[in-house]
Amino acid sequence: MKKLKEYIRSIPDFPEQGIIFRDITSMLQDADGLALAVNKLRDEVKDLDYDIIVGPESRGFIFGVPLAYAEHKPFIPIRKKGKLPCETISVEYDLEYGKGILEIHKDAVSPGQRVVIVDDLIATGGTTQAMIKLIEQLGGVVVKLCFMIELKDLKGRDKLKGYSVSSLVSYE
Ligand code: IMP
Repeated sequence: MKKLKEYIRSIPDFPEQGIIFRDITSMLQDADGLALAVNKLRDEVKDLDYDIIVGPESRGFIFGVPLAYAEHKPFIPIRKKGKLPCETISVEYDLEYGKGILEIHKDAVSPGQRVVIVDDLIATGGTTQAMIKLIEQLGGVVVKLCFMIELKDLKGRDKLKGYSVSSLVSYE
């Protein structure tokens, strides 16, 4: 059986010179790769006490929704500015390649709800920090952060001290 990492391809100089882009589309286009990825994420959360899964646009949706479906939990999307139709709160954050604003619906997380965050990849940790801010501003409690891929050199975990972080595949 193939390992998870073997389904991920690395693209040099994308989106900029000098960046190696870790591409999960090669995993998604293989039914065994997709099943393995979602099953491995299920292993990460199966013994946890939590209420909701939160994931960011757009690759966080790719893993967050099948995980939520498989675990019979609700899925809450965090989206880029201007995409959510109801009342939102927002946060500005630093991206690996620029700046951005993320938003969440105000009524999506209730005070005291226990939250698992899922995303495809952690690089600098800026996106994740922003998501934590949004969830905590609404009174949610972040109990775990699950990533498919971790780019260790960028030290995203350093920004997440005190939180439980797991990644399925890592690159130096
Ligand atoms: P961070 O905020 O620096 O941790 O960057 C994480 C976000 O950037 C994730 O939501 C990823 O989707 C995206 N990202 C950064 N580098 C890569 C990459 O090499 N492959 C795929 N996505 C990436």
